[in-house]
Amino acid sequence: MELRLDSDTPALRQKIQAQRQAGHTIGFVPTMGFLHEGHTSLIEASRNAGHFTVVSVFVNPAQFGPGEDLDSYPRTAQRDFEISVACGAQLVWFPEVGDLYPVGAQTRVAPGALAQRLCGISRPQFFGGICTVVLKLFNLVTPDEAFFGQKDFQQFAIVRRMVQDFYLNVRVTGCPTVRDRDGLAKSSRNARLKPPERDQALTLYRTIRAAQAAFQAGAQDAAPLKTDLLGHWPKSIDLDYLSFRDPIQLEEVERLSGATRIFLGAWLNGVRLIDNAALAS
Ligand code: AMP
Repeated sequence: MELRLDSDTPALRQKIQAQRQAGHTIGFVPTMGFLHEGHTSLIEASRNAGHFTVVSVFVNPAQFGPGEDLDSYPRTAQRDFEISVACGAQLVWFPEVGDLYPVGAQTRVAPGALAQRLCGISRPQFFGGICTVVLKLFNLVTPDEAFFGQKDFQQFAIVRRMVQDFYLNVRVTGCPTVRDRDGLAKSSRNARLKPPERDQALTLYRTIRAAQAAFQAGAQDAAPLKTDLLGHWPKSIDLDYLSFRDPIQLEEVERLSGATRIFLGAWLNGVRLIDNAALAS
């Protein structure tokens, strides 16, 4: 069976239909490529759930704003293909822009309030672009279950909401954030960090750990804990947000609970950094 598909949407549909007819369920892992262990954990989760596992690799122009890193985003197709197959993917699809946004395409998904907070404030078109491409991908791949990383928790929450709002027949599963040994959340963009910057980037994880420790030690109110954490934030890292929110609506909370998540977004010399975690994990 041919594992790699470049473009060729009809072949994709036909292969997936054949798998369905053979009695398999379909698991789907959408990615933008330059794969790392965060991505492979999703592929493995899909395989472990027993699905015929499809990975897509597509750098989605609709989610990049003007001046963002669309052109410089790393594109490493053959490497991504090999990594995907090595951890169990059975079909790796590389659509082209014209497959998903053919001439004349104009309909966009407009997510609601969930997309207008956290990353949505500094990147206003980001989540609309993600919802639009994810809906297209879901309609082409027709997965039973799709796997998203909790590293991008807001994305996961918005996609989960879209699936509910549009009655899509797919289960959305969020998988734990995969980190380097020192705690830095794995990200395709980490490759752009020079060694001293990489150490500075750990500030996000250190802040999460400090919040978790404070919660464990009895902190109950978000405002003083936030003030305390901000007091330790280094000036060299451009903070976008530090916020305590509930895990469903992503609304700010005043009182902390174990399920409350701390969300962080920042820029370090132009490299976008995000991280989040539940206070009780
Ligand atoms: P991306 O290629 O950055 O669009 O990510 C594709 C998928 O991999 C998304 O569902 C991400 O949330 C997920 N992902 C990226 N980094 C990690 C990570 N460190 N741990 C878990 N999942 C991740």
